[in-house]
Amino acid sequence: MDSRRHALDEINTHGLNLTQALSNYAEGMVRQSAVVLTGLVERLETEGSGPVQIRRLRQLVARLQPLMPQSSGITVYGRDGRWLMSSDHPIPAGLNSADRGYFIHHRDDPSREPFIGLPIRSRSNQVWVITISRRFNDAAGQFAGVVAVTLGVENFLQLFGQIDVGRDGAIGLSYTDGAMLVRYPFREQDMGRNFSQSPIYAKYLVDNAVGTASFTSSLDGVERLYAFRKSDKLPLVTTVALGKREALAAWQLEAQLSLLVVCGLLGLTGLIGWWLLRAMRRRSDAEGELRVAQQHLLDSNRQLERLAMHDALTGLANRRCFDETLHQEFARARRNGTALALLMIDVDHFKAYNDHYGHLAGDACLQQVAQRLSSCVRRPPDLLARYGGEELAVVLPETDAAGAVAVAQAMLVSLGQEPIAHRASPFQQVTVSIGIASVSGSPRDSEQALLACADQALYTAKAAGRNRLQVG
Ligand code: GH3
Ligand code: MG
Ligand code: MG
Repeated sequence: MDSRRHALDEINTHGLNLTQALSNYAEGMVRQSAVVLTGLVERLETEGSGPVQIRRLRQLVARLQPLMPQSSGITVYGRDGRWLMSSDHPIPAGLNSADRGYFIHHRDDPSREPFIGLPIRSRSNQVWVITISRRFNDAAGQFAGVVAVTLGVENFLQLFGQIDVGRDGAIGLSYTDGAMLVRYPFREQDMGRNFSQSPIYAKYLVDNAVGTASFTSSLDGVERLYAFRKSDKLPLVTTVALGKREALAAWQLEAQLSLLVVCGLLGLTGLIGWWLLRAMRRRSDAEGELRVAQQHLLDSNRQLERLAMHDALTGLANRRCFDETLHQEFARARRNGTALALLMIDVDHFKAYNDHYGHLAGDACLQQVAQRLSSCVRRPPDLLARYGGEELAVVLPETDAAGAVAVAQAMLVSLGQEPIAHRASPFQQVTVSIGIASVSGSPRDSEQALLACADQALYTAKAAGRNRLQVG
């Protein structure tokens, strides 16, 4: 829209410049005619208009004419409208112009100013002419006749025709009251026609001497851009009109091309954006899949780790875990000089249990025993593990023999409180024997010795009748 406004501004400026040039041309023509008229009137008034004087006047006019190529003739009329002299024609007999507008004007108006007449068809050669005329007086100051310079409309049309105003354009020269003097392209019916009701005269020229306007012609329905200029010295108006659609055709083509390019660029941008989005989505999908796979891997690792360190039947730490923990805690105890206790637990008469109740029941019994005993091992660093078969073991860091006895005691009590039936046992319930060993964290202690000591204590407990604890 901005470029359209710019294009319109440019068209209007061109139009105004053109009206300026045409207005100057028309003014020049009128002025030149007025100068010639002044000389002729002067001669007629001083020398009179008798046949001798008229003959001499013709000679002067014959010299003047080549200097005024736009003029198609100079004519002198007597006070009754009769032709006294015509520059380049023998006067046709009986020709009288007393009815012409310019003659009536000069006869009735004493003004000595030049008068621009409406276009008329020449009575001598039938071509369209505009007259510039002046009145001359006799010695008594009374009206004695009129001298007129006729300007061929053809001259104007030739000049206007050299200006390109397109198919719908027009150039007009008219009176300030709206009477058309010349219009290009030429239209016979517009010659002398009054356009005072058209918007240019009725609306725009009322307030402005110069300007531009745009409206649709009521004659042919074409929207035009008008530039108009009222001459500041003469009662003349120059108008240049261009068909709006025609004038904006170049802009329209350019705008359409721009639109095409912008749409193309937009499409390309959209395509690249879509492609980028798709690539980003694919990447984020791949990242999501990778995250899921990673999580799976972590879960599997955790499970593997758990499997590697735990016993499948009881859920307790397995032998491997026990060995590692004992090793670490033993080293820590020696390093820190703290106590460490170890319980070795063996289920009594378990073979008989299996024999009596079956192997599956034996498994369930082991699970139950593990659950009971783990409730007695509460401190975070303590570890209850399945040592192998129906043997369990407990590592108790920072615990001395007394503490270990307390834990073992609690285990025996726990099993005795809600007994698990064992008909093949002399106790009629599932019992365990516990061997206890401990070290004080001295550098002389040995892990093997600790294990052997606990094992020996367990053996002693068994030998002493089972269902008891024994400190090694
Ligand atoms: P003791 O009082 O001297 O310990 O007698 P016991 O019968 O418990 O001793 P023994 O070592 O002779 O028997 C252990 C039995 O434990 C042998 C085996 O069948 C059984 N056992 C070991 N591990 C499992 C297990 O995981 N499940 C089951 N059901 N039985 C097991
Ligand atoms: Mg055993
Ligand atoms: Mg046993």
